Amino acid sequence: MPAATGPDAQAGGLGGFAGQVVRWQRAHGRSGLPWQATQDPYRVWLSEIMLQQTQVSTVLAYYARFLEHFPDVNALAAAPQDEVLGLWSGLGYYSRARNLHHCAQQVVQVHGGRFPRDAATLQTLPGIGRSTAAAIAAFCFGERTAILDGNVKRVLARVRGFAGDLAVVREERALWDLAQAMVPADPADMPAYTQGLMDLGATVCTVRAPGCASCPVQSLCAGHREGEPTRYPVRTRKLKRSAQSLWLLQAQRADGAVWLEKRPQKGVWAGLYCLPVFESHEALRAAVPAHVGLEDAAPFVHVLTHKDLHLHPVRAVLGSGSPAGEGAWFTASEWTPLGLPAPVRKLLEG
Ligand code: SF4
Repeated sequence: MPAATGPDAQAGGLGGFAGQVVRWQRAHGRSGLPWQATQDPYRVWLSEIMLQQTQVSTVLAYYARFLEHFPDVNALAAAPQDEVLGLWSGLGYYSRARNLHHCAQQVVQVHGGRFPRDAATLQTLPGIGRSTAAAIAAFCFGERTAILDGNVKRVLARVRGFAGDLAVVREERALWDLAQAMVPADPADMPAYTQGLMDLGATVCTVRAPGCASCPVQSLCAGHREGEPTRYPVRTRKLKRSAQSLWLLQAQRADGAVWLEKRPQKGVWAGLYCLPVFESHEALRAAVPAHVGLEDAAPFVHVLTHKDLHLHPVRAVLGSGSPAGEGAWFTASEWTPLGLPAPVRKLLEG
């Protein structure tokens, strides 16, 4: 990694931005979280993946349960995918769990069961992006490499008054370059610095109401100096959203067992167990024996990252026989530990 040079060298020194962040983190940042007490890349990686899009308070229980089942990368790699998705159930964004599993398998097969020690190689593994790779390398191996997740983009864009549009690749790259030039000079400071940036973004420099009055880098912050920090970061492009209507067959046996199918490995809810999904009411009707009555339940919207799913549950009680398609009957004690899409679990529990 390039050394900090030029005007940013001071930022990387103890007197500048990095030093402030490091001192503040050690005195006031978040501490005592289970993944902070270790430099084991398996544990740090697991926590980083879980913390993407999920609150710390929710991750705590999942993290403990995962480690109980899979104490190391070999155990995770050897587990069946169903078990991994089942343990992930409720955390959402299941592609993270599928990638987690693939990544563990690659670490075992390609790297002999040891995580690579540098961000560049870590980044070649499934589900590990540039920022996550940098976090693992900084926390576990003291590599002087910058993280830049959504929270940190906000902090650095405000501190530097970075007005480039982050929807433009060239501008995003420029912010990466700035971030890299701001890391501490001493590798020993990298864990506290990296954690400090994450903590600042999560607890002080929040999206709508940055707490500038109690911010450790206030005197260095261009956004604060200009008087309108929330104008940063700039991002013009809005996420394109689409909508899709799906009909869910909630077929039940007299003893309460429900009919579930395993979803294909690609597309919505890939690899999860699910109520049979249809693109129309007619298609659903055709999958149930003609003599079986159907009851339409109230439709609802389930929001995915890029898509709104308009879900139409349809109930059917089957005295004998099964719906068409490849599935199986599951009793409540059998489906509870499975990896199920959140709205399907809600339907089954309701
Ligand atoms: Fe964010 Fe305000 Fe701190 Fe600047 S001074 S980093 S805007 S909280």
